[in-house]
Amino acid sequence: MANTDSEGSGGAPRRPLALGLARLRRLLAPRCVVCDLEDGDPLCPGCARDYFASDVARCATCALRLPSARGDDRCGNCLRSPPSFDGTVVLADYAPPVDRMVAALKFGGRLPLAEAFGRLLARAGRPLLRDSDVICPVPLAFERQSERGFNQAQEIARRIAADCGRPLRTDLLLRTRNTSAQMDLALAERRRNVQGAFVARGDLAALRIAVVDDVMTTGATLGEVAAALKRAGAARVGNLVVARTP
Ligand SMILES: [Zn+2]
Ligand SMILES: [Zn+2]
Repeated sequence: MANTDSEGSGGAPRRPLALGLARLRRLLAPRCVVCDLEDGDPLCPGCARDYFASDVARCATCALRLPSARGDDRCGNCLRSPPSFDGTVVLADYAPPVDRMVAALKFGGRLPLAEAFGRLLARAGRPLLRDSDVICPVPLAFERQSERGFNQAQEIARRIAADCGRPLRTDLLLRTRNTSAQMDLALAERRRNVQGAFVARGDLAALRIAVVDDVMTTGATLGEVAAALKRAGAARVGNLVVARTP
């Protein structure tokens, strides 16, 4: 029955203001997007540890999961027909709850998540980054970026560049057209869907490039990106990706 928001008559109306501010602070304080823990981090240390385990055996080239007790560090696909890129580091499988985090960034505009992903990728990708001269996000087509207001890959790449001290280059690649969502397509269609979708700009002679994206499905998009960069002279292309479809 007591109205906790009101002071007694005669008292200064300080409590409603204080309560309002507390509520506002709670709304603004970043909470963990997975467990809702309020600790100022969009991805709390516990969830980062639980869902971004680094001890999974993966193909060194395309980051496909490998049976753990194998001597070889590359998958059959990459041994049979090596893709245009030279290596890939991913943080996790594209599965719950990581798919939800990726969607919260991409479609929900939870930009602090890009910071969290970038921080984790800068750490997990340290060897790849040591061998890279520049950081290059996978671009969106112009219309899609204006629609969304940001490019999630670029936001992640910005943090990686800041952490490893390499320049962020958003001018190296142009996406010439929008492509359908890769996940909705069959394998052959995926390749056709992205063929010729990227053009590298300028002379990239001898440049070693770390390419950043949020999701990798078959690797067709990143394969096209690497092929375009190498046609322009890039010496080495490695991928840093948040999540890969298992
Ligand atoms: Zn959490
Ligand atoms: Zn592979």
